[in-house]
Amino acid sequence: MSLLVVGSVAFDAIESPYGKEERIIGGAATYFAVAASFFSHVNLVGIVGDDFSKKDEAIFRGRRIDTAGLERASGKCFFWAGRYLQNLNERVTLTTELNVFADFNPKLPEKYKDSQYVFLANIAPNLQRGVLHQVKKRPKLIALDTMNYWIERTPEDLKETLKHVDILVINDSETRQLSNEHNLLRAAKHIFKMGPSALVVKRGEYGAMLVDKNGVFCVPAFPLEEPHDPTGAGDAFAGGFMGYLAGADKKNDAALRRAMVYGTVMGSFTVEEFGPRRLTRLNPKEIHARARHILKLSQFKL
Ligand code: AMP
Repeated sequence: MSLLVVGSVAFDAIESPYGKEERIIGGAATYFAVAASFFSHVNLVGIVGDDFSKKDEAIFRGRRIDTAGLERASGKCFFWAGRYLQNLNERVTLTTELNVFADFNPKLPEKYKDSQYVFLANIAPNLQRGVLHQVKKRPKLIALDTMNYWIERTPEDLKETLKHVDILVINDSETRQLSNEHNLLRAAKHIFKMGPSALVVKRGEYGAMLVDKNGVFCVPAFPLEEPHDPTGAGDAFAGGFMGYLAGADKKNDAALRRAMVYGTVMGSFTVEEFGPRRLTRLNPKEIHARARHILKLSQFKL
């Protein structure tokens, strides 16, 4: 089943206690598409500037990623700079330059319009909605990610977009900010009233939690001794999660649980190196081995 993603394709500047990158390819849709392409065909919608070279585009080549929806405009790519503190769980955004994103008006190529699985990655909520309007039939599953930037700047737009969404995939601080609830279960109840029927909370080194009508399902983070850069881990999580569901063409409880594990696996590889480097070198064997390891991590007898 084809999976559509809209989101940022960017250049990032990243500082962590483990090093520094001045300009590395990033963006939510980039991490998502590369991660999801291990499980499913991906239709990518985004925009890049004329500073995005053929060499940069190579990140999508040789994978199951269709870039017909990646528009080129004159100007510069979206640029984001962030710094991680010692524990890697906290980060400060130093710069957000929308650049070509400021005037972006996503247009879906005809062949994308019947995508059955849709992921609205982190991008302005009105653009996320603009993409949904162009999809012909109601997709089987629509998931959305967002961040404090949009929760603070465009709350009404975000609320409007959320009405059309099945699964909200966000981190814990964004969950609290969006719902005004500290407790994540209470936050989930609040969010269900906004539209989504399921909430996936990404909790960094504490793993991920799914809340829906079936209850709560938790996956621990894969323990890593030397994480280097958490940038994009959330998007790669979403890529593994949605990629698995689209590839299996299922959204029942068992599939959602497996999707949570594959999301966790893709996030864990991402943090091992700066930017999307580790993700681009992955192979399916490594992915499945890590999924089995996660199963072992949380199994016990009573
Ligand atoms: P994550 O670490 O999963 O939150 O995602 C990091 C990626 O999101 C980086 O590669 C950034 O380029 C991108 N990003 C950061 N801020 C924004 C924003 N306001 N809108 C869209 N993408 C963003």
